[in-house]
Amino acid sequence: MKVPFLNLKAQYDAIADEVEQSIKQVLSSCAFSGGPYVEKFEEEFAEFCGSRWAVGVGSGTEALWLALLALGVGTGDEVITVPNSFIATAEAITLCGARPVFVDIDETSFTMNPALLARAITMHTKVIIPVHLYGQTADMDAILAIARDHGISVLEDACQAHGAEYKGRRSGSLGDAGCFSFYPGKNLGAYGEAGCVVTNDERLAGSIRMLRDHGQSRKYHHQVVGMNCRMDGIQGAVLSAKLKYLDSWNAVRRSHAFCYQELLADVPAVTVPKEMPYARHVYHVFAVRSSEREGLKQALSRSGIECRVHYPVPIHLQQAYAARGEGAGSFPVAEQVSDELLSLPMFPELTVEQVSYICDEIKRNAQLP
Ligand SMILES: *Cc1c(COP(=O)(O)O)cnc(C)c1O
Repeated sequence: MKVPFLNLKAQYDAIADEVEQSIKQVLSSCAFSGGPYVEKFEEEFAEFCGSRWAVGVGSGTEALWLALLALGVGTGDEVITVPNSFIATAEAITLCGARPVFVDIDETSFTMNPALLARAITMHTKVIIPVHLYGQTADMDAILAIARDHGISVLEDACQAHGAEYKGRRSGSLGDAGCFSFYPGKNLGAYGEAGCVVTNDERLAGSIRMLRDHGQSRKYHHQVVGMNCRMDGIQGAVLSAKLKYLDSWNAVRRSHAFCYQELLADVPAVTVPKEMPYARHVYHVFAVRSSEREGLKQALSRSGIECRVHYPVPIHLQQAYAARGEGAGSFPVAEQVSDELLSLPMFPELTVEQVSYICDEIKRNAQLP
């Protein structure tokens, strides 16, 4: 049996008529850059997150970058995040002229360890960015309490956590602002690049809206130096059409995750991810831990099962950040899990038969010497 890691075509086929209608509306009204279809999506997505405002931008990376700029981050500032994220989290900080400061993660949730946070704070710390990795929120109450004590803003990297919940509240609405990516493979994916920032802070939303459009609030009157980070009209329309399905897609992801967790519970060779008591996980990624990760990945590949690794090299060990001088051993938990985590196929169109085939193949291979 062949099981791809992801199948965007299956999802497109299921909603093709609807999405094509939406795209045609944009084409016939020529609302290509920003405009009514982006505004409609912003309203819908803000409501989905339980936030007052959403500002559509060109990518998740831009969402992080502009939100940091709007929070006043600049040269000489420090922004605390985790080393086990997609590089964009750190890039956004660096692009503001600030310095990423890493805090190691909790071994069970793979998210920021709040017990290590306070000692990373200095007089230069401006913002903390917890990353809701794989679709599960970080331990936000603990992080927010420390941030409030020090008067530091909290920006959620919710790029993998559309619709995830923390104690019943949606990701993105927990901190000062939350950033989302609509990269095609995310739980809510555009048909191209897109992202957005959600917030309850009207001033912050206004500032990001201005920054995404060359720092202008009125055409050709530029109050600050901004950028072109507008969302395409076509992406707004596609995202509106797809948002209606997000809750049900997330529910199917969760049922696949429960299936994996049940079938792999007694397999000592792999450790399944755990849903934390505070969380409603949306399983953007379903990553199991194995001390024989490479062998398992190759064995599954021979059985037609495509797995991936998120992420093989923690950010502090990337060449791009080598000048920081943080070598191996700096963040032991993040380093250890980056050697052991293997992401199994996870997407709503996966079937129960495929999940049980994958688990059978894991069990069969785990018995080999
Ligand atoms: C995808 C992702 C981003 C970046 O989003 P893009 O839309 O690809 O720019 C940032 N952070 C995390 C954790 C991500 O998974």
